[in-house]
Amino acid sequence: MKAVLDHVGIAVRDLPAALAFYRDALGLEIEAPEEVASQHVRARFIPTGQSSLELLEATTPDSPIAGFVEKRGPGLHHITLRVEDIYAVLAQLKAHGARLVDEQPRRGAEGALVAFVHPSSAHGVLVELKQAAGAQDFSPAHTHVTRYALGDLELVSLCDGFFRLDGGAMFGVVPKALWEKKAPPDGRNRIILAMRPLVVRGTRTMIIDAGLGDKESGKFIDIYGVERARNLDHTLAEAGLAPEDVDIVLATHLHFDHAGGFTKRDASGRLRPRFPRAQYIVRRGEWEDATHPHDRNRASYLFDNYVPLAEAGVLQLVDDDLTIMPGVKVRRTGGHTMHHQMVLIESGGKTAAFVADMMPTTAHLSEPWLMGYDLYPMDTLAAKKAFLPEAIAQHMLVFFEHDPVVAAGYIREQEGKRRVVPALNNH
Ligand SMILES: [Zn+2]
Ligand SMILES: [Zn+2]
Repeated sequence: MKAVLDHVGIAVRDLPAALAFYRDALGLEIEAPEEVASQHVRARFIPTGQSSLELLEATTPDSPIAGFVEKRGPGLHHITLRVEDIYAVLAQLKAHGARLVDEQPRRGAEGALVAFVHPSSAHGVLVELKQAAGAQDFSPAHTHVTRYALGDLELVSLCDGFFRLDGGAMFGVVPKALWEKKAPPDGRNRIILAMRPLVVRGTRTMIIDAGLGDKESGKFIDIYGVERARNLDHTLAEAGLAPEDVDIVLATHLHFDHAGGFTKRDASGRLRPRFPRAQYIVRRGEWEDATHPHDRNRASYLFDNYVPLAEAGVLQLVDDDLTIMPGVKVRRTGGHTMHHQMVLIESGGKTAAFVADMMPTTAHLSEPWLMGYDLYPMDTLAAKKAFLPEAIAQHMLVFFEHDPVVAAGYIREQEGKRRVVPALNNH
């Protein structure tokens, strides 16, 4: 096993007094405060090279930190080791009879998976194991549907499984030394990505994008490391939906990881619309580009995914930023493709956004972290600069179509630093 010291947790009785030592006397830089409401704790991180110190202060008397300080006084509370496969490490510890506080990992800050090992097994030290979000973290549990109430609408995040793309291409000019911490690559330098179509149920039932589908060859599946053991068929059923229930299929753009599930082969091998009753809505410019690809975008546009829709007469092309059904409108972002669009959803004074490939994962939150795949990266940058303040101000529920762990979250800004707070089912 390989492990890296992530941070050392120090329980303090008086945070300002502790800051007087670590910040003022030692001269260390301190990050913005973080409140972990569920643990009744206020935390301050102090970066120290590869790892950091974490000062922990109880916010209520029933906080575990309050209990610790009461019993043992302030001081070393825990160490956190970053591991690549937390499930494997927990299994190994269990096999050696170690006492675990958490038998199964749970979700910690920034979507990481964490689990605690009891101090009695670790010679007096509470040990936290942590696996950063995005690593080989795609156990079947993460393909479950998640549901969110938004005013009169219900939003259901589905999953068509996972695939892998070159990590360098996913982060453009960002050095690997930076992105590999957030999205650890496999032996072929690929990072794991989910495909998460979104169902919107209101006056009608809409699905936004439809994943990869099942038409691709063995060679394709190998190159892109496709894992669809659990896919859109399963998650649709789990959401209580049949393909016949879908009235509208809305495309953000026509790349294969978004439009592959628009069609399927019937028993005779003919290509058919996957959702038999649905109208398929595509932006006209995107349709033009997808049906007239050039050398740079040809690998992403596979005619079998969308040309049969026109032949079946179920295609509807739209030109502008229109309302597609009550509460749901599209907005062109450009950037990723010239006519790439995001979807804004609003009901009962609440807003949500399905940002598609403008911000494919939570690791793409930082404005200059843009994909090398983008045809017009400066346009993606402008779209993100416009969108992010809006998302923060409106407390928008943001859906990350390709994030392997976090289906949706809220973007928070504190002292100039932005982060994604994952949103769990609220329904
Ligand atoms: Zn795309
Ligand atoms: Zn994509």
